[in-house]
Amino acid sequence: GKFVYFFSAGRTEGGAGDKKLLGGKGANLAEMTTLGIPVPPGFTISTEVCTYYYANGNKYPADLQAQIDKGIAELEAAIGKKFGDKANPLLVSVRSGAPVSMPGMMDTILNLGLNDETVAGLIASTGNARFAYDSYRRFIQMYGNVVLGLKHHDFEHILDGLKKSKGVTEDLALDAEDLKKLIAEYKVEVKAKIGRDFPQSPKEQLMGAIDAVFASWMNDRAITYRKLNNISEALGTAVNVQSMVFGNMGDDCGTGVAFTRNPANGERKFYGEFLMNAQGEDVVAGIRTPLSIEKLGEKMPEALKELHSYADKLEHHYKDMQDIEFTIERSKLYMLQTRSGKRTAFAAIRTAVEMVDEKLIDEKAALKRIDASTLPSLLAKIFDEKEKKEVLAKGLVVATGLPAGPGAASGKIALTAEKAVEWAEKGVKSILVRVETSPEDISGMHSSEGILTARGGMTSHAAVVARGMNKPCIVGCSALEVDYKTGTVEFNSGTAKAVKMKEGDHISIDGFTGQVLNASLNTIPSELEQVFVTKTLPMEKSLLAQQYARIMQWSDQYSRLKVRTNADTPEDAAVARSYGAMGIGLCRTEHMFFAEERIAAMREMILSSSLEEREKALAKLLPYQRADFKGIFSAMEGLAVTVRLLDPPLHEFLPHEEAQIEELAKAFGKTSQYVHKKMDDLKEFNPMLGHRGCRLGVTYPEITAMQTRAIIEAAAELLKEGKKVFPEIMVPLVGHFKELANQAKVIRETADAVMKEKGIKVEYALGTMIEVPRAAVTADEIAEHAEFFSFGTNDLTQMTSGFSRDDSEHYLPYYIEKGIYPQNPFQVFDWEGVGKLVEIAIEKGRKTNPKIKLGVCGEHGGDPASIGYCHRVGLDYVSCSPYRVPIARLAAAQAAL
Ligand code: ADP
Ligand code: MG
Ligand code: MG
Repeated sequence: GKFVYFFSAGRTEGGAGDKKLLGGKGANLAEMTTLGIPVPPGFTISTEVCTYYYANGNKYPADLQAQIDKGIAELEAAIGKKFGDKANPLLVSVRSGAPVSMPGMMDTILNLGLNDETVAGLIASTGNARFAYDSYRRFIQMYGNVVLGLKHHDFEHILDGLKKSKGVTEDLALDAEDLKKLIAEYKVEVKAKIGRDFPQSPKEQLMGAIDAVFASWMNDRAITYRKLNNISEALGTAVNVQSMVFGNMGDDCGTGVAFTRNPANGERKFYGEFLMNAQGEDVVAGIRTPLSIEKLGEKMPEALKELHSYADKLEHHYKDMQDIEFTIERSKLYMLQTRSGKRTAFAAIRTAVEMVDEKLIDEKAALKRIDASTLPSLLAKIFDEKEKKEVLAKGLVVATGLPAGPGAASGKIALTAEKAVEWAEKGVKSILVRVETSPEDISGMHSSEGILTARGGMTSHAAVVARGMNKPCIVGCSALEVDYKTGTVEFNSGTAKAVKMKEGDHISIDGFTGQVLNASLNTIPSELEQVFVTKTLPMEKSLLAQQYARIMQWSDQYSRLKVRTNADTPEDAAVARSYGAMGIGLCRTEHMFFAEERIAAMREMILSSSLEEREKALAKLLPYQRADFKGIFSAMEGLAVTVRLLDPPLHEFLPHEEAQIEELAKAFGKTSQYVHKKMDDLKEFNPMLGHRGCRLGVTYPEITAMQTRAIIEAAAELLKEGKKVFPEIMVPLVGHFKELANQAKVIRETADAVMKEKGIKVEYALGTMIEVPRAAVTADEIAEHAEFFSFGTNDLTQMTSGFSRDDSEHYLPYYIEKGIYPQNPFQVFDWEGVGKLVEIAIEKGRKTNPKIKLGVCGEHGGDPASIGYCHRVGLDYVSCSPYRVPIARLAAAQAAL
C-alpha cells in the first residue's frame, strides 16, 4: 500500500479533503502548498500506519521503511540538502497530526538530523555557530524528553545552572560557547539516565521520533482529551516529516501564531503574537513574553504584509476563521500550519453572523459553526466592567489560572465541601477552594458560587464537573497553596508579593480569564440576560444580542424539533419564554406545596384518616393550586403547558424534628403518637420505587381530582378573560395502561364537571410520562388512553440501568474512566441501551395512536448530543431548563441540517 504522501511546491499528493488519511495538519500543509503559499516541503505518513501499528503489536507495514527513505531522498532533491550531511545537512521536524485537531495533546520534535558532525555542517553552511548550537541543544532536549523519556526538568535545571553561573536570566544571553558546553552536559545527562549515548545516526533519530509520535496517540493526555471531546480512538494520528526553517537564526528571524479574527470576541481583526529570534514552541511555552502582531510591522513590514495576504487567502479558501503558525527565516516568511480556530461562544456567534453578511458562508453553515455546548458562557454572570477595572488598577489580581468554566463569581473562601454546603444553607455565598476536587466534593461544588483549584487542567475533575453545573471555575492555579490544617491559603506567583488569606475571606474569580481577585466584586447578569430577561439594556446597544437573535431565528427556521422548557413558576416560565421556549414540557406541581402556608394543608391531607378529612384538606389546597396555574398559564399565554400531577412520595412533605411533629399533631388535633404511626406507615425501603406518581392518584383519586379541578378552573377563568391557554395534564410513573385508564377517568369526569359549572369548554390534552420500562414496552396499550407521551429520561435511565439518580456519582466516574459507559448516562442519553426502549415506545405508541405527540423532559432535553438523538428518532419536542433553551434551539437546528 501507499503510506507516504509528499508535499512540495513541485509535487503534492494530498489536499484538504484528505484529513482522515493525512490528519488535519498534513492535509492542510498539502493544501497550502497547492495554493502557492510558501510551506517548507515534507511528507506525511498516513493514519493508516497508526492503525496498523496498534493492530499489529506496535509493528509497521513491511514496505514503510522503503517509502520513508524515498520520501527523504525526494526531500533532499527538493531543497538541495542531504540528511546527515557534514557540509550542508537537511534537518526536519517530526510532527503529529490527527484527523481532528487535538492542540498540544501529542508531541513534536524539531531540528532532527543534528549530531556532532552535522552541527559542524550547519555552522559551515550558515556561518552562525550560536544558532547551530542552539538548535542542537533544543533537539537533544526535545528528543530526550519525547523519545528517550527524560523529564523536561532534567534539562531545565542544567540550563538554569548555566545561566546562574553566568549571571544571566535569558536564554538569548547565552553565546555559542555556552551552548556548546550545554550540549556536552545534556549528553552526559542523557547517558546517565538511559545508559547509552544520545543517538547520532539521523536515520535512527528519525525512526525513533516517528515511533514516539505514534505512541503518543495513546498517552494519557491524548486519551483524556479524546474522551472529553468525543473523538474516536480508531482515527489514529498521522506523522508529518517536514524540512526545517529557522526562526532562531538572528534578529531578522522569528516565529509566531495568529488568528484571522479575534478568537475571544470574534472581531474581524487580525490577531496574533510572535517572538523575534525564537523557535517553535517558545511562543506558547511562555518562556518569553511574546509581542503583539502589530509590532511585526515595525520590524519586518514586508513579512507582515505577506502574512496578512496569506491569512486572507486562507480564510477565503476555507471560509472559516483560521489559526495559523508561521516562521520567518532571514526575513522570508513560511507558513507551518493552518486550521479552523478554536473560539469562545462570543466569537463563534460574531464570526458566524458576520461571515454570512460578508457572503462567505450561508446561514446553515453559520449554524453548524457554533458549538451549542459552549452557549452557557453567553448567559453566565459577569462582573461590572467599571468595578473590575478599578480592582485591576489597584493590583488586586493575586493569581491567574486556567479558565475552565466561564462566568464571574465571588464569595467567601470555603476549603471543604461541607463548609460550602453549610454556608449555602445559611444563604452565605462561597467559592470552593481546593488543591483539586474529587467526587466527594460534588455537593460542595453545587453549593458554591464557583470553584478554584491549584492543580488540574482543562479536563480535570473540577473543570469537567464545573462546566456540567454551569459554574465559574478556575483550575491549575499554580500560584495557589492550600493548607487545610491551618485553614489558610497563599497566593504566590513569584513575581508580586505573596498574599495570605484564610477560610471565610472574600475572593472573586473570573472564569472567563482565569483571574483570581482579592476583592469582593458584584456580579451582574450577562449581556444577553440584560437584553432579553431583565430588559435593562436595549437591543440596539448590544451587538451580541442582535447577532445572537439572528442565530436563534435561523435555528428555529431550520429545525423540526420544538423546544419547550421545564418550569414550575411564572418567573421561570417568563425567563424561558424570553429565551425562546415554545411552551412548558414539564411543570412539576410538588414544589407548589412547600410554601409556608401550604405545607400545613398538605400535611393535614397526608395525616387524614378518612376521605372526608382528606377532602377538607384538599379543598384548602385548591385555591393555591388554581392561582399557581393561572400565573403559569398567563406567562405562557398562547403556548401549551404540560402539568404533571403530584409525583413524589408523601413522606417528603412531612417534618423530621420532634418539636415540629408535636406542633403538627396539636394543629390537627391528633396525638403525636398518631403522627408517628402515620409517618412509620409512610416509610419505605425504596422510596423511588414506592408509593408515588400515579400510585398516589390510584389510591387517593381525590388528589387527582383536586389538581384537575385547579387546572381546568384556572384555564376556564383565563379563557373568560380572553386569554389563550392550552393545558396538558400528565400522569406520572405509569407502567400499566390500566393505571392510566383509571386516572383518565377521574380527570375526564372532573374536567367535565368543572366545564359544566363554569359554562365554558376548555381544550386540554391528557397524556402520560413514559419513565417505567414496562410502560415503554406496552406503549401500544397505553397510547390508546393518551394524547401525548413525555419521556421522563431521568427515571427511565434510573430504572432501566438500575443506577440511582441520587448517588450514582460515587461509582459512575469509575465506569466512565474504565470506558464501561462513555459518559454519565444521566447527562448524555444512553441511546444504545435506554434509547432502545424509547424507540420501542415511539413505534408502538404511534401504531395504536398515529396522532400521539411525543416529547422528552429531563436533563437530556438540554444536552446537544441527546437532542440530536431526539431529532433522529422523530420526537416532536424536547423540554429543558430555561437557561438551556438557547442551546436546545441551536442543537435542534444542527440535528436537522
Ligand atoms: P502542535 O500540534 O502542538 O501545534 P506542531 O507540529 O504544530 O505542534 O509544532 C509546533 C511548532 O513547531 C510549530 O508551530 C512551529 O513553530 C514549529 N515547527 C514545526 N515544524 C517546523 C518546521 N519544519 N520548521 C520550523 N518550525 C517548525
Ligand atoms: Mg501547531
Ligand atoms: Mg420521574
